[in-house]
Amino acid sequence: MQLFQWDQTFETGNTVVDVQHQYLIEIINQFGETITRNNPETREIEKVCSKLIEYTNHHFSEEERFMKAAGLDQRHIIQHCQQHKDLLHQIGPLRKLVVTGDLAAGKHLFDFLINWLVFHILGTDMLMSKQIDDIHRGMTANDAYSLEEENNQNATGILLTAVKKLLYQLSSRNKELVDLSETLEKKIQDRTSELSRANEKLAELARTDSLTGILNRRAFIESAKVVFDLSRRYRHPLSLLMIDVDHFKHVNDTYGHQAGDLVLIRLSEIINKCLRGTDIIGRVGGEEFAVILPETGLEQTAQLIERLLNFVRDEVVEIDQETSVNITVSIGLATVPPLVPDVDSVMKEADRALYKAKSKGRNRCCRAD
Ligand code: GH3
Ligand code: MG
Ligand code: MG
Repeated sequence: MQLFQWDQTFETGNTVVDVQHQYLIEIINQFGETITRNNPETREIEKVCSKLIEYTNHHFSEEERFMKAAGLDQRHIIQHCQQHKDLLHQIGPLRKLVVTGDLAAGKHLFDFLINWLVFHILGTDMLMSKQIDDIHRGMTANDAYSLEEENNQNATGILLTAVKKLLYQLSSRNKELVDLSETLEKKIQDRTSELSRANEKLAELARTDSLTGILNRRAFIESAKVVFDLSRRYRHPLSLLMIDVDHFKHVNDTYGHQAGDLVLIRLSEIINKCLRGTDIIGRVGGEEFAVILPETGLEQTAQLIERLLNFVRDEVVEIDQETSVNITVSIGLATVPPLVPDVDSVMKEADRALYKAKSKGRNRCCRAD
């Protein structure tokens, strides 16, 4: 990349301003060197960018102080300050791109700064310096302004107008670059939140039984473990029920598998209706459901079971306009205490109790011996 060569053409005659300009060019060249080096470190780019912006700010405020102290015409001061402001406004967002490693944006920023500075020094700073000289020679600020604006038009005016147009083009490229990066950033953000929503959905699906929408066996056992741990720690009672549809095979065989599915969905709804918010229900087998009732002793559990058996018994599941099905369920109950509260042994205990309920004639609840 071509670095900027300073020469006398750029001297305004104001020593302080000229020294500052040369130093500014030096930093811009350092910036150019850094970004064209092989694999430049982000830290270095960031450092030279900060130095550049800090010094630009310093130099601009010094120049502005000069103009005011010299008593320049307000019209010049306003235009001049506006140009400074515009530059700072444009390099801020570009700098953000550069420090995130966008070297193309860095190269663009370098070109833009050089072009801007050439235009600004040869045009606006020269005008400033000439007006300061005129005022020192005794001219009024107004006359100095008019004289130098006119000279400028005649001499380098046409050239500077052309350069100004080029600068406008570069400025709109600045905006495009920044907009493009913002759009990309937005797209990445949208995509990331879409992905995390999809992941949440997947995790939920992995926990859910697709037919009934309640927890599947694995998720039920996972949740059960948490409740059991709490029950053990605080020595609180809990109950576990295994609920199995009686003669469900007969439902399938008589009315078809789809009718069987409807029965299972309805049954999960009935069980849910009997539970509290803190109770946990899962489908742990084909036509087998499990329920944990935390903080629930034998007496309360017995009441709930009574209600549940009645609800199921009374329910008429409509299969179609002509067909409806009645079902009953058998329930095995295990309570904590007296059992050792680990999920596996309590589930086995409830399973044994369920078997007992089946063998005693179904449509009832039993506790294991
Ligand atoms: P018991 O009173 O002894 O529990 O008799 P049962 O007929 O209910 O028990 P069995 O284990 O003999 O039959 C259960 C049937 O449940 C067999 C299986 O095809 C059916 N089944 C399992 N999962 C589903 C399902 O998702 N939908 C339907 N419709 N049927 C299912
Ligand atoms: Mg059954
Ligand atoms: Mg069964």
